[in-house]
Amino acid sequence: MQPFAYAAAADAAAASAAALRGAEYIAGGTDMLQLLQERVRRPEEIADVNGLPLGGITEEPGGALRLGALVRLQEAADHAALRQRFAVVAEALDATASPMVRHMATLGGNLLQRTRCLYFRDVTTPCNKREPGSGCGAWDGENRHNAILGGSERCIAVQPSDLPVALIAVDAEVLLRHADGAEHWVPMEDFHLLPTEHPEIETVLRPGDLILAIRIPAHAALRRSHYVKVRDRASFAWALASAAVALRTGDDGRVEEARIAAGGVATKPWRLPQVEQVLLGRRLDAACAAEAAARATEGALPRPGNAYKLPMLRAAVERAILELGGLA
Ligand SMILES: Cc1cc2nc3c(=O)[nH]c(=O)nc-3n(C[C@H](O)[C@H](O)[C@H](O)COP(=O)(O)OP(=O)(O)OC[C@H]3O[C@@H](n4cnc5c(N)ncnc54)[C@H](O)[C@@H]3O)c2cc1C
Ligand code: SF4
Repeated sequence: MQPFAYAAAADAAAASAAALRGAEYIAGGTDMLQLLQERVRRPEEIADVNGLPLGGITEEPGGALRLGALVRLQEAADHAALRQRFAVVAEALDATASPMVRHMATLGGNLLQRTRCLYFRDVTTPCNKREPGSGCGAWDGENRHNAILGGSERCIAVQPSDLPVALIAVDAEVLLRHADGAEHWVPMEDFHLLPTEHPEIETVLRPGDLILAIRIPAHAALRRSHYVKVRDRASFAWALASAAVALRTGDDGRVEEARIAAGGVATKPWRLPQVEQVLLGRRLDAACAAEAAARATEGALPRPGNAYKLPMLRAAVERAILELGGLA
């Protein structure tokens, strides 16, 4: 680990000022400490944001749920209203990491955890994301955990977080504070970026920006929702493929609204509008779930090591729909 100066930020302005000098923020530290130890990140300064007033889960007038960026994953998972109204989010948190990690890790930090791509984490290898222009070790290398959707020869790294996948299914937004003090909400779906020209730029955050909060709108509670995660071991592991499904059905049992997203398979949390389309206006049954799930991998660009994710993703989506509909 390279030596660095450490300071607890007194307020958001001080945190932003430090970041503009090149400091990295630290919250729960569960990813940042690994990145420092592995020398993937080598900042001269660390700005601890844990003292900022970004905790708490509150119900806003109208019924939206607002979660502070520093809320720990376990605290959110245990929140009664979140569990009852937005099950997909609680289930995604339940399936994230281990209890010990969930008690340390924050919601804001989870949205920003870096990829688990082996080459990104090994500074002796080429990686466009870590060292722009150096090449992509994973493209022709070990790519079992890499993305089948949203990538190119430049980068096929998976964005590995469970939480944002579920948040897309409930139309969540993320509140950002820019270095000049201005604040604005960004839809969760638009927060992460594709690794087109610049794999090193992963989100819409600009230098000095802070995540302040996440908001789940009240209308999303009208949908029933469910998260299915496929991984190497049930105790804890990042997703090989996951599916977040949220459906609103009418009195006649037909699907009136559908939000479906996938994780573990794409370079950003991946919405599946073509799968949603199949379900709209239909009554859920096994044939309809299979037909919808078959479309989950449209546009995929598998590599030899990760082509197994094609049937795995389709199966995860199908299972999530069937379980949500009480058909499995
Ligand atoms: C053993 C293990 C298993 C895991 N399994 C899973 C899993 O199954 N699913 C999953 O989703 N995750 C998993 N994780 C990852 C874990 O969830 C993340 O490391 C964690 O959520 C990051 O949160 P943190 O508060 O610790 O962030 P930190 O490590 O403190 O920071 C992460 C990044 O976020 C930035 N940051 C933090 N807060 C803010 C803020 N408010 N504004 C702007 N930037 C900020 C930091 O600068 C840093 O770049 C696992 C981790 C471990 C160690
Ligand atoms: S997939 Fe992305 S993160 Fe992995 S080696 Fe290639 S450029 Fe780096």
